[in-house]
Amino acid sequence: MTAPTIGVLAVQGDVREHAAALRAVGAEPRPVRRAAELDGLAGIVLPGGESTTMSKLLDVFELYEPLRERLAAGLPAYGSCAGMILLASRILDTRPDARHLDALDITVRRNAFGRQVESFEADLAFAGITDRPAEPPVRGVFIRAPWVESTGPAVDVLATVPAGATPDGRADGRIVAVRQGAVLATSFHPEVTGDLRVHAYFADLVREVSFTP
Ligand code: GLN
Repeated sequence: MTAPTIGVLAVQGDVREHAAALRAVGAEPRPVRRAAELDGLAGIVLPGGESTTMSKLLDVFELYEPLRERLAAGLPAYGSCAGMILLASRILDTRPDARHLDALDITVRRNAFGRQVESFEADLAFAGITDRPAEPPVRGVFIRAPWVESTGPAVDVLATVPAGATPDGRADGRIVAVRQGAVLATSFHPEVTGDLRVHAYFADLVREVSFTP
């Protein structure tokens, strides 16, 4: 099997954890800090971190336009948490000057789960992963996470929060993983659990799409 080169946006956030997970699923990770490092990528991961900071740094590093263009051309992408926010078409509860990459037809609400449950964990059914025989649930680790408030017609919902995951019930049924074509996003952080299945899912997607700019 080939090892596709998958970039990890490396302006801020948990870059190392994603790079390690990608390597573990047979991909070749490449940190991306400048536009030239987008060349030759078969896919890219946008890590967790702080989306408004990452948005600013995308401008500082002159990456915003080149990355947006690459995504529009069909570069497969996976965004986790802040990365999901950056990939969205519409963001609620962000700064007015925050930029987004418009690669996923979703409305995302930042820091949506509320102060009481800034962080929580839940076992999730994940379409394409846990619906295979004998697959245990995916452990979702949510850290000041966004949720997906609504999705456009081309977006598949892959995971929602089961009822009772948080004491106030606020998270019940919320959409936390989506896919639109070659773009995948999760509100949670599989890169911190040691469970490689979401990264393996993305690496398979990257291999299937076989992107050439
Ligand atoms: N709350 C962060 C933001 O708005 C995301 C948190 C995360 O990536 N863990 O960008």
